[in-house]
Amino acid sequence: MKNLFFLILFILGSTLFAQKIDRIEPAYWWVGMENTQLELLIYGKDIAQFTPSVDNKNIQISAVKKTGNNNYLFLNLDLSKAVSGKFNINFSKKGKRNNFSVAYELKERNQNSKMREGFNSSDVIYLITPDRFANADVTNDIVKTMNEKTVDRKNDYGRHGGDIKGMTNHLDYIHEMGFTAIWPTPVLTNDMKNASYHGYAMTDFYQVDPRFGTMEDYSELAKSAKNKGIKLIMDQVANHIGLEHWWMKDLPANDWVNYQDEFLKNNMVVTNHRRTTNQDAYASVKDRNLMSEGWFVSSMPDLNQRNPLLATYLIQNSIWWIETLDLGGIRQDTYPYPNKQFMSDWAGAIMKEYPNFSIVGEEWSVNPLLVGYWQQGLKNKDGYVSNLSSTMDFPMQKAIVDALNETESWDKGFVKMYEGLANDFSYANPSNIMIFPDNHDMDRIFTQLKENVVNTKMALGYLLALPRIPQLYYGTEILMQNSAKPGDHGLIRTDFPGGWKDDKSNAFKGEGLTSDQAEMQSFLKKVLNYRKNSEAIHSGKTIHFAPENGVYMLFRIKNDEIVTVILNKNEKPILLNLNRFEEVGLKGKQVVNMITDDTFIFENNLEIGSKGVLLLTTKK
Ligand code: CA
Repeated sequence: MKNLFFLILFILGSTLFAQKIDRIEPAYWWVGMENTQLELLIYGKDIAQFTPSVDNKNIQISAVKKTGNNNYLFLNLDLSKAVSGKFNINFSKKGKRNNFSVAYELKERNQNSKMREGFNSSDVIYLITPDRFANADVTNDIVKTMNEKTVDRKNDYGRHGGDIKGMTNHLDYIHEMGFTAIWPTPVLTNDMKNASYHGYAMTDFYQVDPRFGTMEDYSELAKSAKNKGIKLIMDQVANHIGLEHWWMKDLPANDWVNYQDEFLKNNMVVTNHRRTTNQDAYASVKDRNLMSEGWFVSSMPDLNQRNPLLATYLIQNSIWWIETLDLGGIRQDTYPYPNKQFMSDWAGAIMKEYPNFSIVGEEWSVNPLLVGYWQQGLKNKDGYVSNLSSTMDFPMQKAIVDALNETESWDKGFVKMYEGLANDFSYANPSNIMIFPDNHDMDRIFTQLKENVVNTKMALGYLLALPRIPQLYYGTEILMQNSAKPGDHGLIRTDFPGGWKDDKSNAFKGEGLTSDQAEMQSFLKKVLNYRKNSEAIHSGKTIHFAPENGVYMLFRIKNDEIVTVILNKNEKPILLNLNRFEEVGLKGKQVVNMITDDTFIFENNLEIGSKGVLLLTTKK
């Protein structure tokens, strides 16, 4: 922001030609990057008629690219010998009267920036819809210069006023609950006419939406989170933009968005959403192209990442945010929708800069073959090389819900979880896959499980012990539900109680909760805080036993730590014969109940009083 300020000052200073440059993106960059090439998008009236030069002998202009639109100029700089500091980019035209300069800054990188660690199976991620979490600053609720000017908490699809500061203010709560990472849905500017709260229709890739706060607020969130040991994951969208994006008012090139000619005739061509065309050896070219080039919805133009200028723009934008905010990960929206070679290049470029970083991509499919295809390390038959560290476990999510909703039989109930997990043999790296009970686009888990508290606990207890990276959606800890309107996105993203000044209950403080809510919150707090230091869960060996008589058992083992998950559907007390589990090596050892702290010796039998989940450990 400071740099932008100086840039504006500088431009104002050269009053005569103040109108020449509206944007330079990225606004600043760094020295010491792995890739020493930088491409600047320069936007200003007739800027392409100027010849750029730089006044620094350590920086070479390697290319100047024009697009056919006179208002854009792309400037490639070779920074391999550059040192940090400011330099001028000079723009000249025949007749010196028109000449002008702008300052550009190259910064030093943060220490250890390159080797930063992303999220992994030692983390549990808290997914937040910022507009619906906490409103810390009511003065930013309405911004008069923006298209959507209202705040209405009664409207599920309107803005409710939550903001970045609201998240920062509640980091202590998130930390104490035991979460180690946060994934807020996008907070960049979405200057759309309605439903702008969700954030996935960006209209500026370099600006924080003023209704969520400022760049300083975002940096403060990143810094405060890091100080508490919480990784910040940024939700990014490479596939599409919002129709109100500034590019759409003055398209940079004739192939900047897909179906651009049709758009100019006011005919928006929408994708067929047939995501299997990415893998299907029999898919028609027509279906495949419509899948990746059609617009996600008619208000979200589909970016043409085959345009190399746009491809570089998107890659640099991601790196700019990692470096600027010191990010601990990226979540990439709608992963199968953009050009897939571009996605491989994009993830590859990021991983080259940050070899220990993490990116999770969203492929919404319950087919493990599709989920596995996108994860780095799999030898795909079609030769596609993905550089994506993590994918999302929609197959296992469904298996868990089905297993708990069904009555036990040979092929129903727990066997769905058991066989779902067995599919791990097909993944390149199962423990790097993200598991979740629900997310911002799905019915709340409590609703999916028909508001059965015991089943919800079973689902959560189980998935938190899996060889995975768990993600929980805000409010799961207090059994938030959307049962009145299943499938309703606005209701799924209900306000978190206590996030607004006059809320009757305050879940941050545990005030005004029902006993079920309070119990779930305390249950999760215990499990999450145990998990935080559990090497058995982070990286231990996994053994599970075929479900029998309504009981399914899973073990995680590392050194002397053995974590046992017992899922039991029997309503009446049962005596469980433990001899079957001998190979786990628990016999004769003392185990402690993670929730109640009760201890007992793991011998021949265990009496289980009621339906539910038991989480046991040898170490506490
Ligand atoms: Ca606000």
